[in-house]
Amino acid sequence: MDFLPENIATYAEQHTGAEPELLQKLNRETWAKVIMPRMLSGHLQGRVLAMFSKMIKPKAILEIGTYTGYSALCLAEGLPSDGRLITIDINEELFDMVNDFVKASEYRDQIQILTGDATKLIPEINITFDLVFIDADKENYSNYYHLIFDKVCQGGIIIADNVLWSGNILKPIHEMDTETLALHEFNEMIQRDERVENVLFPVRDGLMVIRKK
Ligand code: SAH
Ligand code: CA
Repeated sequence: MDFLPENIATYAEQHTGAEPELLQKLNRETWAKVIMPRMLSGHLQGRVLAMFSKMIKPKAILEIGTYTGYSALCLAEGLPSDGRLITIDINEELFDMVNDFVKASEYRDQIQILTGDATKLIPEINITFDLVFIDADKENYSNYYHLIFDKVCQGGIIIADNVLWSGNILKPIHEMDTETLALHEFNEMIQRDERVENVLFPVRDGLMVIRKK
């Protein structure tokens, strides 16, 4: 489900910075070769993530849910020259493609790709992050939030994608499937959490932007 009328979405893209060439290629290759290409952030959301990252200038970024690496490359645009990004995905079949695109980018020395279950890998990471992007399995969003919270610096930003879940988030609770219910519980938990301030941006499928006070 698209929330915006198509002509407005097109106009917004036409008046947003162009999609860098490497990302255009990654977008095309993902649609040609990988299942579920709709999961890729895409032009508008990619530019939103790059813009947020450039505003934050994070020294350390954690991404949970690499897929083909599109959002990782967008977020990396805001890294200072000594900054780094760690991205985690459970799907080892994606590694070679992600690695090829990271190596082809100017962030090749700054991006570390980890393969494995993020719920297992995150506790082993002892780094303080300025920016975390949560975009893996929706059932684990609340777990990821709790796992990373103490690793986020004061004033740090956590962004969670797909929190509107194609509008399914508006269904009555008893009609929600497990993913929708998990996202509903995540959104409610964030709304109640007094340690943070948050804004739900209705960009693409919904971006919850959370700032640790
Ligand atoms: N961030 C990407 C899209 C991510 S799609 C972009 O915007 O372009 C979601 C990804 O989460 C999938 O690639 C899937 O393999 C991964 N994933 C699902 N469960 C996971 C888990 N437990 N640990 C790590 N990654 C997981
Ligand atoms: Ca997503």
